[in-house]
Amino acid sequence: MTIGIKKVSRPEKMSFGEGLYLVEIVKGLGLTMGHLLRNIVHQENIYTYEYPEERRTMPPRYRGKHRLMKREDGTPRCVACYCCQTACPAKCITIVAGESPNPDVEKVPVSFDIDHLRCVFCGLCVEACPCDAIRMDTGWFTPPDDRRDKLVFPIDDLLEK
Ligand code: SF4
Ligand code: SF4
Repeated sequence: MTIGIKKVSRPEKMSFGEGLYLVEIVKGLGLTMGHLLRNIVHQENIYTYEYPEERRTMPPRYRGKHRLMKREDGTPRCVACYCCQTACPAKCITIVAGESPNPDVEKVPVSFDIDHLRCVFCGLCVEACPCDAIRMDTGWFTPPDDRRDKLVFPIDDLLEK
């Protein structure tokens, strides 16, 4: 969507009417009221969203908040290989590996945190993962919050998405 910019040429000196200011104030208020009334009548033309009640639809390739994929039995697909943590340029992934109870899987993440205050949404973690265990296809951007620690998303949060 492109919005046209109207160029306004201003004379160097104010006219007598402009010098009175009152006329210009009334004209300005009229313009504002015109926009207000037009937006009330034609709400479909308003370019803003009632966020967070109304969310913008992100393009399919948008790299949103991460999610960890699950196996069919509901356990994380991640094998705690540290490839994503190593590839991350912002050093915002912290993984603690543990032994898996499943004899077919060597390791599982005991904890897997992503600090979204540091993440630059480059997607290198997704590219580095050898088993498609991490994706950024949620379409969610980092939500605003009042505490920094709430923006470090733990494994339970990442598995839910
Ligand atoms: S998107 Fe980039 S910065 Fe964010 S966790 Fe993945 S590798 Fe790190
Ligand atoms: S690269 Fe994939 S499998 Fe390895 S630790 Fe990261 S999410 Fe887990």
